[in-house]
Amino acid sequence: RFITFEGGEGSGKSTQIRRLADRLREHGLTVVVTREPGGTEMAEQIRTFILSGAAEGLGPEAETMLFAAARADHVDRLIRPALARGDWVLCDRFIDSTRAYQGSDGVDAKLLDGLEKVAIGNVRPDLTLVLDLPVEIGLGRAARRRSGEAGPADRFERETVERHARRRDLFLAIAAHEPERCLVIDANQTQDQVADAIWQGVNLRLNE
Ligand code: C5P
Repeated sequence: RFITFEGGEGSGKSTQIRRLADRLREHGLTVVVTREPGGTEMAEQIRTFILSGAAEGLGPEAETMLFAAARADHVDRLIRPALARGDWVLCDRFIDSTRAYQGSDGVDAKLLDGLEKVAIGNVRPDLTLVLDLPVEIGLGRAARRRSGEAGPADRFERETVERHARRRDLFLAIAAHEPERCLVIDANQTQDQVADAIWQGVNLRLNE
């Protein structure tokens, strides 16, 4: 089973992935937790390159191809083999982040579709959980989380509220367009409530 988590900054994806992984393991399942961009050595290097700002001179299409290259490696070396073994794979961001982030950067949808096909082949999520909450609340959470860290916010987190709002709309539009794959979770609740909603959704959709 392949479950992806999507959502904006501060939506609580990493916390909730950890909680779902723990719960599945308590049920005796083997779970692989991974993330994008990243998940393999090569893809983590591409992540560092992009997020450090080193790629800031690249146009949005070139940057999109870097994300796609990272994804292709991640799918080939980690996700597909894990699914073939029968493991559960939980991934923090996947194809919908590209549609929302690179889409909101103005990259043509046809290019995004083409690169998506090349990068993932037939490896499609069985379930995508869209952790949804108002942009201001998510940005507030992300800012509080960072206040304990040294160094500046990464380039994506410095962007305007309008752009984050556009991405939220894109995530919700994808979920509305593919309701059999996607489930929107109200992330503006306590961690326990969000975890329960996710657990219910997983049981309902994947029948475990
Ligand atoms: O989810 P996480 O915070 O680890 O993602 C790292 C950053 O990469 C985010 O700030 C996100 O905005 C950005 N990103 C992106 N396009 C993607 C995936 C992630 O711009 N396809």
